[in-house]
Amino acid sequence: MKYCRFQLNSQSHYGLVESVAGREAITRLLLTAPEETSGDMEDLATKRMDHIPLADASLLAPVRPSKIVCVGRNYREHAEELGNEVPAEPLIFFKPPSSLLAPGENIRRPRIAQRTDYEGELGLIIAKTCYQPAAEEDLRPYILGYTCVNDFTARDLQNKDGQWTRAKGFDTFCPVGPLVTDEIDPRVGVGVETRVNGQLRQQGNTRDFIFPLDVILRYISQAMTLLPGDLIATGTPKGVGPVVAGDVVEVSVEGVGTLRNPVVDE
Ligand code: MG
Repeated sequence: MKYCRFQLNSQSHYGLVESVAGREAITRLLLTAPEETSGDMEDLATKRMDHIPLADASLLAPVRPSKIVCVGRNYREHAEELGNEVPAEPLIFFKPPSSLLAPGENIRRPRIAQRTDYEGELGLIIAKTCYQPAAEEDLRPYILGYTCVNDFTARDLQNKDGQWTRAKGFDTFCPVGPLVTDEIDPRVGVGVETRVNGQLRQQGNTRDFIFPLDVILRYISQAMTLLPGDLIATGTPKGVGPVVAGDVVEVSVEGVGTLRNPVVDE
């Protein structure tokens, strides 16, 4: 099942996304926010509505997380391209929810940053409260679905500050969407690609994660309670690089779709 969040008549709604005559369209309203259902998307109540082609909808960020937890250096070749050691355990950091950005909206480059980079990533959305699950517990019920994330970064400030809160946390630095799906399995492997102005810059696959999803979930939830709707960005493949005003960044996750955002100067 796939869903998005969108604006209609000045109100935000969640909508079921289905293929209609070969095109994705919003076909039904979801009557409950998916993150409030504690788990199974298939149980969501829906209401009939006039179909809206996904390409014509006013999409919003499909998640409203209490926190965004990111994993750094989760692909070997990306760790190496920035001259970093391959980590022995997951490296995690936060982006603030105020950095969320809807599909299609402008990423604003701050005046105080010299270099701003895209980082295309698979995003995971939490289905139900997760805190220190038992070692033998199946973690799949804790996962509501997956989406595309751009972990946009002020690279010069990341290097200068010593910690990453400012460099990763500017408003508009977390584009996410266009929809959430539970129909892919990153454990088997899904492609993650980033294009700038149509040119391929990153091409990875989740089967090359240094730390698989279960390891990441256990590591984070050892420290903090993950709440329904929380977003986890799972790390970026090699090929990160700078963008400037006028560029358009597209992050594509196989089976999810493409998250497209123009870059502008503040
Ligand atoms: Mg990242």
